Amino acid sequence: MALQYPKQLHFLVIPLGSPGHFIPTIDIAKLLAQHGVQVTIISTPVNTIRFGSILDQAIQSGLAITFLDFPIRYTEFGLPEGCECVDDLPNLSYAKALMEGYASIQILVEQHIEKLERKPDCIVSDSFMLWAGETAKKFKIPRVIFDGMNCFTQMCNHMLYVSKVYESVGDSDTFVVPGLPDCIELKKSQLPFMFNPGARHRGDFHEKLRVSEAEAYGVVVNSFQELEQEYANEYKKIKGDKVWCIGPLSLCYKDASEKVQRGNKSSIKENECLEWLESQETGSVIYACLGSISRIEPDQLVELALALEACKKPFIWVVRAGHKSEKIEKWIDENGFEERTKDRGLLIRGWAPQLLVLSHPAIGGFLTHCGWNSILEGICAGVSMVTWPQFQEQFYNEKFVVQVLKIGVSVGAQNVVHLGEEEKFGVVVKSEEFKKAIEILMEEGEEREDRQKRAIELGILARKSIEDGGSSHENMRRLIEDIRNQTSIREV
Ligand code: UDP
Repeated sequence: MALQYPKQLHFLVIPLGSPGHFIPTIDIAKLLAQHGVQVTIISTPVNTIRFGSILDQAIQSGLAITFLDFPIRYTEFGLPEGCECVDDLPNLSYAKALMEGYASIQILVEQHIEKLERKPDCIVSDSFMLWAGETAKKFKIPRVIFDGMNCFTQMCNHMLYVSKVYESVGDSDTFVVPGLPDCIELKKSQLPFMFNPGARHRGDFHEKLRVSEAEAYGVVVNSFQELEQEYANEYKKIKGDKVWCIGPLSLCYKDASEKVQRGNKSSIKENECLEWLESQETGSVIYACLGSISRIEPDQLVELALALEACKKPFIWVVRAGHKSEKIEKWIDENGFEERTKDRGLLIRGWAPQLLVLSHPAIGGFLTHCGWNSILEGICAGVSMVTWPQFQEQFYNEKFVVQVLKIGVSVGAQNVVHLGEEEKFGVVVKSEEFKKAIEILMEEGEEREDRQKRAIELGILARKSIEDGGSSHENMRRLIEDIRNQTSIREV
């Protein structure tokens, strides 16, 4: 048997500058440190201030986490000053420049590794950071990837990739994804852009990503086994067992003060938000938040706003429209929407303290764009959902929530609205469709009770999974032991 040394392992953690990726990667760093690993997070200065502050308390209490910042040369890559994250970009045409900016730190990271007395034992990197794969290879360090998706999505992608079933159907034809434990029907127009010819050409990025993922030592997943046992088992089979479900990552924060600063400075004061929630009845509020990077067209947002009004339920609407904010603000103002709904509506302009909001008993439903972090956060809070998928793998997530877990109601979106191409698609879901889905979700009766019961039970299972001896806790321990063995083998 290999010797079990060194005593303290050192992991490099490399996040991607998109909130839906950076936030959970920071959580992974915290969990690793809680399991006794020394962690260095490779970051950039603005991102460290924005995303890293949540770890201040943990670091002060002695967790071995260090941020190592490498500045991005904005002018060289044509990036506006201070833009280090996708949701800071004026528009998505800058995304390529941002990725190039990140790639430019590779050489600095490698120089850093060369100077270390002992090489890091593992690199945990976002799968989109392709350069981290080259660095890991160069220094012969095992690389574990994280891409923010669940095992269900991984299996959908895998089965589509190997079967190519989508190639022989029309855009709006429904087909069954073969080889899955459940009968999952999708349309080609709902698939992520690697399978969807409607998307703007993205070069050979996806092929490179596929190769890089196949070369990685393993994968960590923000999910827990009990949520998707069969999919996790299948995914492990295709990855030679090197899959570790270690989530829900968001549960690593207990204090309201931490929850409120997760991902960004909240646009509403903690006490103001809580006071408003306290004034509402238990389970009565719809929380509508569409993630961190979607740039939904103002006309489409108007449809959503009118539905929230028409449902006559209390609501929180997180208003984000990026560079189109002015247009939606003008509508809100001129139409009198905020004034008309002020007795039961709270508008949060910018960044909402989502974990804090979702965990409040007043929340009765979550209207989500089906980003995986948001869904899992909803599950942890035991909240059922209205699903409005937009892009990437979000239509898979909708199927998972509505059909497999049976804790959601779909608004009935038919097509992916690819990121950056929102204008081309215009209004895809009408106010009546939102209204109908919200009313079904919130209507008192057996169906709502069943959905709520399932959501609450899943929330309980989620919390159990991260406790001592729980599946995710054990998986984290196994991952660390696996890497320790790898180090021992290398060093003997
Ligand atoms: N988030 C938040 N406040 C906001 C918007 C988003 O806290 O106003 C967080 C949310 O809790 C989640 C992440 O940002 O952790 C968004 O990730 P998700 O996978 O749901 O969607 P994405 O933004 O990547 O599309």
